[in-house]
Parts: sequence; C-alpha cells; structure tokens
Amino acid sequence: MPWNKKSECMPVAQIQALQVEKLKETVEWVTKRVPFYKKNFKEAGIKAADIKGIEDVAKLPFTVKNDLRDNYPFGLCAVPLKDVVRVHASSGTTGKPITGPYTADDLDQWGECMARNFHAAGVRPEHVVQNAYGYGLFTGGLGFHQGATTMGCTVVPTSSGLTERQITILKDFGTNVLFSTPSYALTIAERAEELKVDLKKLPLSIGIFGAEPWTAGMRAEIEARMGIKAMEAYGLTELGGPGVGFDCEAQSGIHINEDYYLAEVVDPITLEPVPLGEKGELIFTSLRRRAMPMIRYRTKDITRLYREKCACGRTFVKMDKIFGRTDDMLIISGVNVFPSQIESLLLDIEEVEPQYRMLVRKKGYLDQLVVQVEAKQEVYAAGDRKKFEVEAKIMAHIKGNMGISVEVNLVEPKFIARSEGKALRVVDERPKQFR
Ligand code: ADP
Ligand code: ZN
Repeated sequence: MPWNKKSECMPVAQIQALQVEKLKETVEWVTKRVPFYKKNFKEAGIKAADIKGIEDVAKLPFTVKNDLRDNYPFGLCAVPLKDVVRVHASSGTTGKPITGPYTADDLDQWGECMARNFHAAGVRPEHVVQNAYGYGLFTGGLGFHQGATTMGCTVVPTSSGLTERQITILKDFGTNVLFSTPSYALTIAERAEELKVDLKKLPLSIGIFGAEPWTAGMRAEIEARMGIKAMEAYGLTELGGPGVGFDCEAQSGIHINEDYYLAEVVDPITLEPVPLGEKGELIFTSLRRRAMPMIRYRTKDITRLYREKCACGRTFVKMDKIFGRTDDMLIISGVNVFPSQIESLLLDIEEVEPQYRMLVRKKGYLDQLVVQVEAKQEVYAAGDRKKFEVEAKIMAHIKGNMGISVEVNLVEPKFIARSEGKALRVVDERPKQFR
C-alpha cells in the first residue's frame, strides 16, 4: 500500500530514533566496504558507535560531487557489481558523469518512495499515467515508471519529446496524470493551445513535476493552462533519483521521506548547521540504500527545512521550494541573483510568456545580465514602441524588487528553444577565465 500511514505519520521523536539507528547501520556498512569512507571517517575521528543522537550526524564528513567523479564509475560502490541490478547516471552536463547503482532492494525502496509521492499527489491505481520524463540513464524516466508500476497504475511510457504525440495520447488514452519536468509541461500546454486542444476539458487532472527549479508563479501558470493540480517531486541521482521529497495535497512544502533520507541545512560558506527554518545548502544522508549510500551529500541546492502540522497528517519534515543551486547563482553588481527570482518577476508581467533565458556577459570589469523573454504574439505584433515600453517596464520591475540593473530584450514568440527536459535558463557568455 503506497500510503504508509505508520511510517509517514510517526511522531517526530520516533522518526529521529529510527534515523539514528539507520544512520549507524549505514555508517557501519560503508566503513566496512568503501575505502573512501573508511579513510574519511578515520581522519575525522568518528565511527558508527559515536553516533548517539541525531545531532551527531554533524560530526560526519561531507561528500561532494567531485568525490563521485574522482571515484567514477564504481569506486564508491559498497557491493560487488554482481549485486548491482541497475546503474543510472547523471547527464554530466557540468563534467564527467556520476553513477547511481542500485541493488534489487534499493530498487524496491525507490518504488515505495515514488508510490508514496504519487499517493500524496492524489494518484490512484486506477489512473492512466503518462510518463514524459526521459527514459534512459536519467533517473526521472525509470524512477517515475517504477513508482507508478508499484502503485498499479496504467503506465504509458511516452518518454520526453514528440510533443504532438504526447497530446494525441493525452486525448486518446484519457490520461489522468502527467509526469514531466515543469518546463516540458509548459511546452506541452503551449503546443496544445496552438493545436486548439483544450487540455482543461480532458480527463487530465494531476501533474507531477520536478527535476528542475520552478517558482510558485510557474506552478500557478501551469495549473491554469492545463486545468490540473501541479504537484512537485524532488530528488537527485546521488540519492537514487526522484522520491526523496514530495508534495502533498496541502501544496505548501515538500515532505522529505525521512525514514529513507536524513536532511540537514548548512551555511554554504561555514558548513555549520543552520537552525530549522533558515535558508542554506541542503545536505542528505541516505539511510537504507545499500549499493551506493551517501553520507552528508552536499546537494548545492538552496532551501530551508521546517516542521509544521500539515493538513495531510504527515509528520515528515518539509522543505521549501528549491530557491536555486549554488552553482547557478550569479553575482550581478554585488547582488546574488538566482534564475528563480527573475522567473517570478517575469510572471508578474502580462505582456510576456514565461519563456526566458538569462545571458551573462562581461562589460568592462563588470558582469552584465541580459534577460531575454518572449513577447506575447499581440504585443510583438504591436511594433517597436510597445516593445521598448514593455522592456522598460520589466527593467523597472526587476530594479524595484532586486535593486539590480539588467538589460531586457523582448524577443519574438518561439525565439527561445522549448524544453523537453531540464530547461536551460542561464547562458554564460563570459570569457572562460572570468567564469
Ligand atoms: P543531472 O541534472 O546532473 O543529470 P539530477 O537529475 O540528479 O542530475 O539532478 C538533480 C538536481 O535537479 C537537484 O540537485 C536539483 O538541483 C534539481 N531538482 C530536482 N528536483 C527538483 C525540484 N523539484 N525543484 C528544484 N530543483 C530540482
Ligand atoms: Zn502534508
């Protein structure tokens, strides 16, 4: 049964006691099997037996992406390859890929975590679900597939792309639930509008979107254009993919599957834990995975954690929307800028579509930000005067809210490449030595 009330609504003290027990087991597991961890723990002077309370997790050393790259492909694997039944890998857009191996039991856990996610989002076994995450090495495709199969849904594995076919299938199969990245959902919505297919009239009622940052404004936009509830999924390859955190009917924060993952937030500079409710870098330790457990993995994702009584009854800690990634953060005139801030300001402007890109250029010694955003068709057709007027309006809106001067270029409809997976929001055009 996907809705595991006993686990998901446990009193916090009980969750934490379970986490301590599983953390000790995991630390012991990797100390015996992975030389990297054995060495790191020895240098930090910590062993499994020293972990007595949940706060002791802070004594363990961090793991970073480069550790995974240095040990590529299987140096951090804690089981022999014969016990590994699947290997995923991250796209490696920022360098050498990293791998994500699973034992058979890890795969079962994944299915369970995903099925919980779906149940909380309102998905039921009788639903037809269309999975438009890319199938392949990317964890999105098979992860969502696995979870929906575990739940017993009717799964349609369209993978990403072939947008018109997605729309035909949404209609013909009576799809109830769509899985995709938020940016691809918007691409589908837009194509459907062009084809005069009213998605709001179809049986489609739920979307589960993740794998990239999106703002609350973008969620509202997708909900309105598709006539659905847009729910969230969060995860990363290093932790086994999606299924780490999920939205519930309250849509007011992402519950972390705390019996599988221990979450912390630290100051990204000092690496000291910050109090609950404060923003910082999200850190995860996997508590039950066996092929490649992660100890205090630095996600580079910025958010905050908080506990509150949730309308859904779950006691799992919540995290806010991911504000941005430390490596997507730009510093413009001394101000930290995340694409999500620009996105939410653009969503306030009715003359534009939420299709945008941010170009970073060097102007003299300074970094300059150029925001390209698509005009709505009628605005574009109104000519240059209207264009300048809207550009000035957006510049003033950004200046007024963030205190930075950016250049805004209103571009013609369809100028920006449509996303089928993770949208590319930032294009760094600075010479290499300045990046
Ligand atoms: P890659 O993009 O390198 O192939 P992953 O698919 O593992 O690797 O990407 C994981 C990252 O995707 C997370 O660290 C986070 O930055 C982003 N991500 C995943 N889900 C969400 C979400 N719901 N909201 C914001 N960002 C997300
Ligand atoms: Zn909830």
